[in-house]
Amino acid sequence: MKKIMTLVLVLMLAISACAMAQTVTLGTNVAFPPYEFYDDETGEPTGIDIEIAKIICEKLGYDLEIVDMDFASVIPALVSNKIDFSMAAMTVTEERKESVDFSTSYATGVQVVIVPEGSAITTVDDLFAEGANYNIGVQEGTTGDLYTTWDLEDNGLATIQRFKTGADAVLALTSNKVDCVVIDNEPAKNYVAANEGLAILDTAYTIEEYAAAFPKGSDLLAEYNAVLEELINDGTIQSIVDTFIPVE
Ligand code: GLN
Repeated sequence: MKKIMTLVLVLMLAISACAMAQTVTLGTNVAFPPYEFYDDETGEPTGIDIEIAKIICEKLGYDLEIVDMDFASVIPALVSNKIDFSMAAMTVTEERKESVDFSTSYATGVQVVIVPEGSAITTVDDLFAEGANYNIGVQEGTTGDLYTTWDLEDNGLATIQRFKTGADAVLALTSNKVDCVVIDNEPAKNYVAANEGLAILDTAYTIEEYAAAFPKGSDLLAEYNAVLEELINDGTIQSIVDTFIPVE
């Protein structure tokens, strides 16, 4: 009897060990719709990046834990191995490649300019005009911040105001504290839809590629890429994008 009890106990332990999947942590700023935001009904994080990450982790047999942080904290968190990876509508740049490894790109992003309707700024070129000195709102640490700082502020053509989230930058715009906001196009569309009296300029500031980011030398990257590429090829990624970005 005692032997059987021991056997049962050992079996139970073995089964529970098998059921306990490894957890991987995803760091992102859950305030960047349609890529990452809190679902109104469930209160859970969702969006293009989150749903892609969920499918890939499920296929790899990992449990996914989402850690919400400022965008500017994501790369430091990767570098110090506080998170296993990030999907944050993050643009691939040469500078970032010095600190993190990027996956295959899964989406294209566009930096656009949001202005109040009737603004004196009617094209991106207006920001570069001789003697220009606009107050530009950006989300700290993003490519919108980096590019406007290098292109404009460093050349005495603008003052950059940096905010923790895109929503904060847009709030400054609606209260006339900045003249425009430079940010990714899909979140921009969300902000313009949610606030009256704003418009997106027809000309783009720049076009870029989004990818997932990993700590340098991460073992997860190769297996992640393998599944990601499968999902790109079989159309799954496109169908997730279509769910969150209705075709116009
Ligand atoms: N694509 C931009 C960047 O990588 C913004 C990303 C974000 O704010 N989540 O800097």
